Amino acid sequence: MAKRDYYEVLGVGRDASLEEIKKAYRRLVRQYHPDINKDDPQAAEKFKEATEAYRILSDPQLREQYDRFGHAAFEQGAPGSAGGPGGPGTGWPFGGGFDINFEDLGLGDLFDFIFGSGRGRARATDPIPGDDLRYDLTLDLEAAVFGTEVELEVPRLEVCSRCRGSRSEPGSQPATCPACAGRGQIHQDRLTPFGRMVVSQTCPQCRGRGEVITRPCRECRGQGLVHRRSRLRVRIPPGVDTGDRVRLAGQGEAGLNGGPPGDLYVYITVRPHPTFQRQGADLVTEVPISIVQAALGAEIKVPTLDGKPEVVRIPEGTQTGEVFRLRGLGAPRVRGTGRGDLLVKVRVVTPTRLTPRQKELLRQFEAEWAQPQGAESRTGSDRAAGVEVKGENGKSGPDDGFLRRLRSHFQVSSPKERPSES
Ligand SMILES: [Zn+2]
Ligand SMILES: [Zn+2]
Repeated sequence: MAKRDYYEVLGVGRDASLEEIKKAYRRLVRQYHPDINKDDPQAAEKFKEATEAYRILSDPQLREQYDRFGHAAFEQGAPGSAGGPGGPGTGWPFGGGFDINFEDLGLGDLFDFIFGSGRGRARATDPIPGDDLRYDLTLDLEAAVFGTEVELEVPRLEVCSRCRGSRSEPGSQPATCPACAGRGQIHQDRLTPFGRMVVSQTCPQCRGRGEVITRPCRECRGQGLVHRRSRLRVRIPPGVDTGDRVRLAGQGEAGLNGGPPGDLYVYITVRPHPTFQRQGADLVTEVPISIVQAALGAEIKVPTLDGKPEVVRIPEGTQTGEVFRLRGLGAPRVRGTGRGDLLVKVRVVTPTRLTPRQKELLRQFEAEWAQPQGAESRTGSDRAAGVEVKGENGKSGPDDGFLRRLRSHFQVSSPKERPSES
């Protein structure tokens, strides 16, 4: 059977780059994987063919010979050949073995699958970045709004301070790895479904480092990293809210082999506050007022998160649920400038436990109130709505003199207190 052209076997052009050749071979290896293709007797042959083509075309010298002389370049006694790359008289390639680094091809997983384990997963010398860490921090509203500094205790991997990550006890030196003589790679003969192959793999003893630790560091037991609970002072900027996260670059887990450390993310949760709710950059607070304050208007003292109460003028005829805005007394805007507002939402409190005199005055009020409206009788629930009717028809309401007399019987001191009985 005539040998197929190597370029044709791999399905690449004669000017294909090494990368294209590798890619083509990778694809064929997966395609003709013997464990996937158990029922296809051709698969092993196809694999051999592709591997042979790859072996030649991935080596610049051998490729040049092949380009000049074709298959004849590798026949016994051919020009430029010492009996084939496998060595003289070895019946290349599957007799004398060949050397393909499956890890370089990105086929390490397949390599494990075909040849069994015993291979170091990754080279121990590859820099590995440290992991990011998450820290959940719960703050009071005041701290979230005005910013704060907190001390966090963060459990994390850190570079060992005793050996500075070298893994060797200070004063001792690592020795050249006896298994790979410092190369980090070993070459092994393996009997495979395709015959005997020489394969390169990361040295399992030193995991590619080329050296072994003679006296491991006492502190980290030769790991180079230690688990520690580190105390970090962290500045939380003003204006953060639940769901925000503060990133602390480089404060995550230490990297390996010189890899960069990860980041620490502080996830913010803000505790509910008894007086204020957050609404973006605004704060909302609810203030109770009496029906008299609502009807006649009043100046009420409103608590602020800043600590100093503010006086708010409630106009006549204020309804429950009306909102008064105090500019600049909210939370700082994290993105953008300035502060949000404090929204004061008033709630009109219907008095309970009235004295007989107060009840009498309210009945008088009702009587005077009802007449200009056309004296229909009002039920209890209508009576509550009477305040609204007054708001809409302010002009036809009772005169101020009457309401003042009413107010003197509903002593109003603090909006938080229920009107006391006189
Ligand atoms: Zn150490
Ligand atoms: Zn080694």
